[in-house]
Amino acid sequence: MSILVVGSIALDTVRTPFGEAREVLGGSATYFSAAASFFTEVNLVGVVGEDFPEEHMAFLESRSIDTRGLRRMPGKTFRWAGEYGFDLNEAHTLDTQVNVFADFKAEVPEEYRSSEFLFLANIDPDLQRDVLGQVREPLLVAADTMNFWIQRKPDSLRRTLEGVHLLIINDAETRQLAGDPNLVKAAKRILDWGPRALIIKRGEYGALMFNNGRWFAAPAYPLEAIFDPTGAGDTFAGGFLGYLANTRNLSDENVRKAIIMGSVMASFNVEDFSLDRLKTLTYPEIETRYREFKRLAHFEDL
Ligand code: AMP
Repeated sequence: MSILVVGSIALDTVRTPFGEAREVLGGSATYFSAAASFFTEVNLVGVVGEDFPEEHMAFLESRSIDTRGLRRMPGKTFRWAGEYGFDLNEAHTLDTQVNVFADFKAEVPEEYRSSEFLFLANIDPDLQRDVLGQVREPLLVAADTMNFWIQRKPDSLRRTLEGVHLLIINDAETRQLAGDPNLVKAAKRILDWGPRALIIKRGEYGALMFNNGRWFAAPAYPLEAIFDPTGAGDTFAGGFLGYLANTRNLSDENVRKAIIMGSVMASFNVEDFSLDRLKTLTYPEIETRYREFKRLAHFEDL
């Protein structure tokens, strides 16, 4: 089963305590698509400018990502610059230039409109809703957002959330969106606005899912070498939804497995800058790390 994704395709400039990468491939939809492509077909909707390097298009195609919905328009590609201190959990945005996304009106190709799995990756909530409105009867709509849109477009974001089944955001965004410092209360408030479930990404502390009044906690893999956390959230979402679309099973048990698969993909992505680690990653490595996760979190009943 394929996934339709809309979100940013970007050129990022990133500084971490371990190095710097300038004008490298990034973007929420890019990380998501690359991670999900290990499990299922991905149809990408978005826009790049005239300056978007051909080698990046070639990379997307090498991962069999369908780019018929990816437009190239006059102007510059979306750009984001950010830095991280020793606490790699928090990105500090230095600059965001939406560029060609400012006037982008998505036209979802006819063959994608019956997609069952839809991911509204982090981008303008107006654009997220525009794409959502063009898909006929999606089985699962998941979405992400960030402080940039929570601050600038709160009303539009609330309207988008009305059509979303599952929201995947980090802990700071959960608190900011709900206006409550307590994660449990914040989660409950957000679920009153439309989503049936919430996944809270907590960086090196793993992820929490809240649905049907219950919590599930997944650990993060203890890594010795983390170079660049950029894209961890999007690769988590890509592994998670990719696995669900591949198995087409939304039972509680399978959703838990999908959360671990998301954590596996994020753990690989942070091992190098940009999407470099995903470029060399193989499926057997994914399976091995999944089993390591199982051992990491396993404990017996009393
Ligand atoms: P993540 O680290 O998973 O939260 O996402 C990082 C990616 O999000 C980077 O590659 C950026 O290009 C992209 N990004 C940053 N700010 C925005 C924004 N305001 N809207 C859409 N994408 C963004």
